[in-house]
Formats: sequence, C-alpha cells, structure tokens
Amino acid sequence: MELDLGPEIAQFRTETRGWIGEHAPPGLADLADWNRSIVTGGYGYGQRAQAMASPEYEQWERELADARLICPGWPEEFGGQGMDAVRIAVFNEELQRAGVPRVIRGMGESLVGPSVIVHGTSEQRAHFLPRIISGEDVYCQGFSEPGTGSDLAGLQTRGVVDGDEIVISGQKLWTSGAARANKMFVLCRTDPDAEKHAGISYVLIDFTDPAVSYQPVRQMSGAAEFAQDFLDGVRAPLFNVIGGLNNGWRVAMTTLGYERGGSATVLHLAYEREFWELAESARKRGVSADPVLRQKLAWAYTQVQLMRFGGLRTLAGLAEGRQPGPEASVNKLFWSEYHKKLGEIAMEIEGTDGLIRPTGDGYPTSPWQNVFLSSRAGTIYSGTSEIQRNIIAERALGLPKEPRVRS
Ligand SMILES: Cc1cc2nc3c(=O)[nH]c(=O)nc-3n(C[C@H](O)[C@H](O)[C@H](O)COP(=O)(O)OP(=O)(O)OC[C@H]3O[C@@H](n4cnc5c(N)ncnc54)[C@H](O)[C@@H]3O)c2cc1C
Repeated sequence: MELDLGPEIAQFRTETRGWIGEHAPPGLADLADWNRSIVTGGYGYGQRAQAMASPEYEQWERELADARLICPGWPEEFGGQGMDAVRIAVFNEELQRAGVPRVIRGMGESLVGPSVIVHGTSEQRAHFLPRIISGEDVYCQGFSEPGTGSDLAGLQTRGVVDGDEIVISGQKLWTSGAARANKMFVLCRTDPDAEKHAGISYVLIDFTDPAVSYQPVRQMSGAAEFAQDFLDGVRAPLFNVIGGLNNGWRVAMTTLGYERGGSATVLHLAYEREFWELAESARKRGVSADPVLRQKLAWAYTQVQLMRFGGLRTLAGLAEGRQPGPEASVNKLFWSEYHKKLGEIAMEIEGTDGLIRPTGDGYPTSPWQNVFLSSRAGTIYSGTSEIQRNIIAERALGLPKEPRVRS
C-alpha cells in the first residue's frame, strides 16, 4: 500500500522511478544487497565495499552527482537541489524499491553536512558542504572515548585555542570507518571550568594530519571495523569550529538527532523485505506451520508495520519543518530492539544450522547468523537502549530527570 501524498508527489514519484530506471547502470542492483546492509550492520559491509569499487557504482555516483542527487536536500548553491523532506523520503523509497544505493562514503552526507547547515555560518557552509558532495572530504565520528560513551558530556579530549587555531589532544574510541576517512568531526573540551555540557566544542579536523594516529580495534568476529585514535596536538583553524566555541553540545545533539532518526522514513522498507525473506526461509525449512513460530512471525510483521507508521509520523513532522526531537529516540529504540528479537527468531528457524559457521578465513557467518550477531550492535551505537529510554522518559514524557553526578 502506498500513501496518497497528492498529485504533485505522485508525479514526482513517477518521474523519480523513471529517472532511476534510465540512469541506474544495468547490473548495479545485483552487485550488493545495498539496502539490507544498512539494517544488518556488519553483514554486507564487505560486500558493499567491494561493490563500491565497481565501474557500475562509479558511474552511478557520477549520475547522481550530475543530477545533484547525492544530498538532494542541501541548498542548490552547495550542490543539492533544496529538495523538501517529503520528496527526499519518496526519492529514498524509490532507491530502495529499485535496490540501488544512496551515495554514503562516510558520515559527512548524513551527519556532518546537516549539522553544518543548521549551525554553521554561511562561509562554513560554502566551504564544507561542496567538499562532502564531491567526495573530497570523507568523515568519521570522534565522539566516544575510553570510559565516555553513554556519558558523552564527560569527554576528556582537550581543545586549546592558540591564536587563530585550536589544538586538540586526547583519545577517541569505537571510530567506525576510520580507515576510509580523511576528516573527523571531534568533540573536545574547550572550557574545563564550565559545567559538564557547556565548554565543549565541535571541530572538523584533518584525519590525515601527522598528529593523528589510529589503530584498528579487532572484534570477536575477526573483523576490524572500529579504531582507537590518538590526537596528539592536532591543529585546526578556528574556522573549523562549528556552532561557535563552547557551543558544541548543541551541535552534537543535532548530529545525534540525524543519526538516530535520519533513516526513519524509509527504514521499514528494508525491514519488510528482510521479514519476507525470513518468512520464506521458515517455509523452506518446513517450520511455518509451527503455531508458536507463526505467532512470533506475526508479531514481527506487526512491528514492521508499526515502524512504518512511526516513519510516517516523522515524515509528517519534517513536512511541517520540525526537526526530529525525542521521537528520533522512540524510532531508534523501536527498530534496534525489534531487530534483536528478529535475530533470535531467525536462529530458531535456522535450528541447528544456526550453530554451524560457514568455512573460510576470519570468522565467517551466514546471513541470518549475522543478523543475530550484528543486531546486538544496533542497541548500542547512536546511544544505547537504556539511554534512549532515559531521553524518552525525560523529554517526551516529562518524567523527573535521572539523578546526575556532577563531575
Ligand atoms: C557498531 C558500533 C559503531 C560505533 N561507531 C562509533 C563511531 O563511529 N564513533 C563514536 O564516537 N562512537 C561509536 N560507537 C560507540 C558508541 O557510541 C558507544 O558504544 C555507546 O555510546 C555506548 O557507550 P559505551 O560503549 O562506553 O558503554 P557505556 O556507556 O559504558 O554503557 C555500558 C552499559 O551501561 C548502560 N548505561 C550507561 N549509562 C546509563 C544510564 N545513565 N542509565 C542507564 N543505563 C546506562 C548502557 O546502556 C550500557 O548497557 C559505536 C558503537 C558500536 C556498537
């Protein structure tokens, strides 16, 4: 079922579908399960990275760039189309439907750019946004530190102003995609005497600077998708401080709002596809008549539909010009907890096969094993489920704040 968004949007959908059909290189959709990898984390990442090196993908990236469709919502003067939220959602839906990807090289397209648009000066927008669209700047995220994940405002990395530069020293941890990035957006403490949430700045640094080093962090899966990073007096011009000195917390909240809620309007499409794959797998394994399993699958289907309605609510808010608020936390909590349970149902359907890994180097896993394992990460990154519940309690329900220890 498709929501009736009026004749103009219906025409936009038809044109977009036609454009994708005409411009997506033949075979691109078959190179990777592009949209599944978004929801299943680790699984598909290697496959996606390999597919991104193909001539088909390179051509697709050029087509999208020529049509100003890499970040279509960004202002025209910076390489976007100034597309409104409803059209962006329709565009993303049509990409999903065609099985072809958006261009996401790092965290610039989805996190840094939108935060610069909200908090940056016009000079900063003009400088940083086109570089993200062209792929010149590929960002990784330098928020978490050893001992400072959920309690992000407790971060210890220092930023000291020296003339017209800021000098940053400290350690970051759990940096996804560090090996592919040449820039990092960093939170650092620039006023150690200020209250915890004040005195923090949001700075864009050169991740290839000799004062930056990083080491891969190997996971139990054998893969090394994270890094720990050492910033040893890395310098950036004050121009690279977004939102002003000591105002980084507000910028970080915008970034996290996009991280938690950014894909809410289309996420259900990927989950729905995944659901039907699992239902088919239950049929093939001859367990779909099991009454308890049927209950579980019916539950999962209901959750996907609820996710869809949550996405529509987000879309309605965006259409009215409201940025995602605490509902971003509701969506994030909902999909991540759902996915963890879906992984458990998948293992039940796999039966004893779920216990046996495929052979190969490293720690290879079957697709459903991977859903089971990597769905655990979904309830941790972008703020754990406990943190989302705290946000919902305080900001959506108006319940008393949890007691905080001043440090
Ligand atoms: C796949 C993945 C990718 C990531 N990528 C990045 C990245 O690119 N850049 C980056 O900066 N970080 C990244 N992270 C780190 C992530 O943001 C942190 O892991 C997360 O914020 C949790 O912090 P922590 O690991 O320090 O756990 P902790 O904060 O130590 O939490 C441990 C446990 O205590 C609970 N807890 C903590 N505080 C409270 C509270 N106040 N109330 C109730 N329960 C609480 C937590 O919910 C959790 O269960 C990534 C993490 C994962 C899993």
